[in-house]
Amino acid sequence: MKLNYEPKFEVSDGVYRLSKERQKLNDYQRMLELQMVHKSPTVSLETIALIKKEALSILKKSEKMKEVTGLDAVVLEDIQSNAQKALAQNEYLFNCKGNVKFTKFLSTMYGNGAYAEVLKAVQERETSLAIHKYFELMHKINNNQIDEEILLNSDKLKEAKKALLGIVESYKKQIERFFGGIAHSFSAEDYDVYISPYDFSFWEEGSRMMSIQTDLIPGTKTKTGRQEKYHFTKSLGLVIAIHEAGHVLQDSISKICIPSVSYRVESSNPTFHGMTNEGVSLICEDFAIPWLVRNRRALGLEDEIALAKVFVKAYLPTRICDLAYELIDIKEREDHINDKMPEKFKTEAGKEMTRITGLPLFVKDFHFFSNTSLLETLWFANYFFGHRRISNIANKAKKEFGISMGNEKQSAILLQGLMTGIWTSHSAKEKFLLEHFLPQAVRDGVL
Ligand SMILES: [Zn+2]
Repeated sequence: MKLNYEPKFEVSDGVYRLSKERQKLNDYQRMLELQMVHKSPTVSLETIALIKKEALSILKKSEKMKEVTGLDAVVLEDIQSNAQKALAQNEYLFNCKGNVKFTKFLSTMYGNGAYAEVLKAVQERETSLAIHKYFELMHKINNNQIDEEILLNSDKLKEAKKALLGIVESYKKQIERFFGGIAHSFSAEDYDVYISPYDFSFWEEGSRMMSIQTDLIPGTKTKTGRQEKYHFTKSLGLVIAIHEAGHVLQDSISKICIPSVSYRVESSNPTFHGMTNEGVSLICEDFAIPWLVRNRRALGLEDEIALAKVFVKAYLPTRICDLAYELIDIKEREDHINDKMPEKFKTEAGKEMTRITGLPLFVKDFHFFSNTSLLETLWFANYFFGHRRISNIANKAKKEFGISMGNEKQSAILLQGLMTGIWTSHSAKEKFLLEHFLPQAVRDGVL
């Protein structure tokens, strides 16, 4: 990949050495995550002990480096945040004698007041409106959609499947155009696009494979006599492909521009870095909307713009109740274990959800949400908090540097700045962007 603007951000040897230890800690964390999502979930005391040892060693060494300033201080803040999250996880999940409350643990991972922030979002009218608007615009499609399994597996629908594959393939060219302000020859890179066999999309750096879920490229069929016609909605899949490409760019740009906070597939761990990484990819979706509007004719998306706009706004609202329920459920279990009333576990989260939403559904049907593991809940929480934290940073940057979303060059520089570095701490990320990356871009005459 060749970047149009390639600033280099280097730190002193001492901070760089510590960043290598951060990488080692994250290697162990990644191993632990793989143990926890193993087909037969498991954890090793050895791995847990190594994480604790590394985290403590990093914090001890970083204490002695208090005098560092400038970019060194920002990277050091992130290294410390990474180690503190590792210790918080260790204390909350793996220490039987530990006494950390769930809400405190969430605050360490996502910022102060994180638990209350989710509950508040559930009650907001905007959340309810976004869900309604999305289902309203999707109503006709949802009711006429060809079943995905049949579409992908039936010989009778070979032509339709071919058309679907063609759409997925066409996203590469569109991704290249959207991110053209940041990197040229992006799609010439060796990555491939596939149809995801799951109901989610993902990017795999190791194999350089991007997979897009087909329920976001819904197809409908009309039959007149012997004539069959297929029609696919393309914009939602394109928005998601841009999200995944955002991950591709974050990884590559960080390697080129800031090796001390760089990406490495073996250390990639959503528990510590997911909030900032997912936040940036969700921001790519937000940035994509004005671009889709401007280029709707060329992209053949004139009829889909309203839907694409609503889709981007509705993604988090359509999943927020599930997240809130899981968090309440965990907190209630903790409270009731303390009160020695375990028989009440299941119903309390439903009652609390009913109280804050005004919907009795959650007590009438307490199987409404399927329970997920804490790790999965945290991985989804990354999207919620990530979008909020990174939006906040992007808005500050727009205001302080006079960046206009209508200006493709300026928005590309802002997006590149947000994509530089695999950060743990949103506070360190903000300082890097506002005090280092964007001032450098001004000095270099690109902003
Ligand atoms: Zn993502």
